[in-house]
Amino acid sequence: MIPPRESGPTLLTARWLIGHDKGRHQILERGQIVIDGDRVVFVGYDFPGEVARRMDFGEAVIAPGFVDLDALSDLDTTILGFDNGPAAKKGRVWPRSYIERGPYEMYSAEELAFQKRFAFAQLIRNGITTALPIASLFYREWGETVAEFEAAASAAEALGLRVYLGPAFRSGGQVVEADGSIGTVFDEPRGLQGLDDAIAFCRRHEGRAGGLVRTMLAPDRIETCTPELLRRSAAAAAELDVPIRLHCCQSTTELAIVRRLHERTPPEWLRDLDFLSERALLPHAAHVSGDDLAIIRDGGAAVVHCPLVAARHGGAVRSFTSYKAMGQRIGLGTDTWPPDMILNMQLGVMLCRVVEDRGIEGCRSEDYFDAATIGGADALRRPDLGRLEPGAKADIAVIDLSRTLQTPDPIQSLMTGPTGRDVTTVFIDGRMVMHEGRIPVFDESRAFARAQAQFDGVIARYPERTLGHPPVEQIFSSSYPRLARDG
Ligand SMILES: [Zn+2]
Repeated sequence: MIPPRESGPTLLTARWLIGHDKGRHQILERGQIVIDGDRVVFVGYDFPGEVARRMDFGEAVIAPGFVDLDALSDLDTTILGFDNGPAAKKGRVWPRSYIERGPYEMYSAEELAFQKRFAFAQLIRNGITTALPIASLFYREWGETVAEFEAAASAAEALGLRVYLGPAFRSGGQVVEADGSIGTVFDEPRGLQGLDDAIAFCRRHEGRAGGLVRTMLAPDRIETCTPELLRRSAAAAAELDVPIRLHCCQSTTELAIVRRLHERTPPEWLRDLDFLSERALLPHAAHVSGDDLAIIRDGGAAVVHCPLVAARHGGAVRSFTSYKAMGQRIGLGTDTWPPDMILNMQLGVMLCRVVEDRGIEGCRSEDYFDAATIGGADALRRPDLGRLEPGAKADIAVIDLSRTLQTPDPIQSLMTGPTGRDVTTVFIDGRMVMHEGRIPVFDESRAFARAQAQFDGVIARYPERTLGHPPVEQIFSSSYPRLARDG
């Protein structure tokens, strides 16, 4: 059941409104936006028509909802690696012994379905109105399943979240041998079956819920795919005309594998496979060299920039500003817990200034706000998203500024004050899916207890897929000496 949409025009006001005109955002102090049905019908002052209701949000920004191209959709295991590495010794590369025993699903189908609903609610909670879900495959038997994406489509529909869905598939993975060396394992038929299942999923679900649910193809990561899988995936994306997302240029391990197997950089390999197109979305594109970026740009693909997850691992794109200057298309992704796009923008600005090393000249607040809104929408070829102008979709995030110090500029205030938890009200497709911090169809405190119990369960099973199978206490270090009551 999709949440109801109020009938008749709704007029929204606040201290600040971020409208859009002639390809640029603009700031309307005490402006008005009127939505009707699924669309924005007016942005400006002194709306001349009748409205069915008015809502005033006070000291707040009415902004276009965020477009999240790598939207966290599971209980994020990367936070377990925050102080625990290397990855190959901490359960993030399958040991040979685990592959031989037969990898298995560490969550039940019911748990996976719950996690989609939980994660989608968290995205809305953070003002994300368009999401392309991403999850880890480390704790999976192999790829994502059609069944869980059927559940994901239902969850998106029930919550009213705009999504592009497709189960992730792959034809390979990494293995860590007993001596600590890392190799690769491939099972191409399994990858091709995953692609076939994903194509069937796209055909069944594209346009569901009045267009709220769209589809995509999601080959997992470049180093986990065989050439045939990538070639066929790109051809299928062209035929279906859906986005195709592939993690690429994310790590030095990935670069080494692709170089060893294909004697090219990841972008060179993608170019030679005819993978690149205006449908291609590439998280994270951080480890690039030579002509890599020019190849991505000339291929028409968009980079998905995820500053928070990268920075937690000591990484940064070098740099967001130089990528933009060369004409690279860029959108943002959250990709980690919390799925907080405001935090991602704030950190992105700071990291970009650090790596540019020319003070505040390195980049500006609006550069990141653009990436989180119109950048993502343009990457999806959706001129009706990421901007508030007449005719655009009524996808809106209201961010409260009443509990922060405000600068004279609301976008600069966003970069220096609030967090995702300050999003109070969200409209998607003209429906008010969250108001005053509450999603009517979602019991947040019960859901968190359930999510934590599931997460604790998967942590308890980490020894099974960690090299040498050490106990949990050895996989995850302590910050300080730990005491516990006996018995
Ligand atoms: Zn990612």
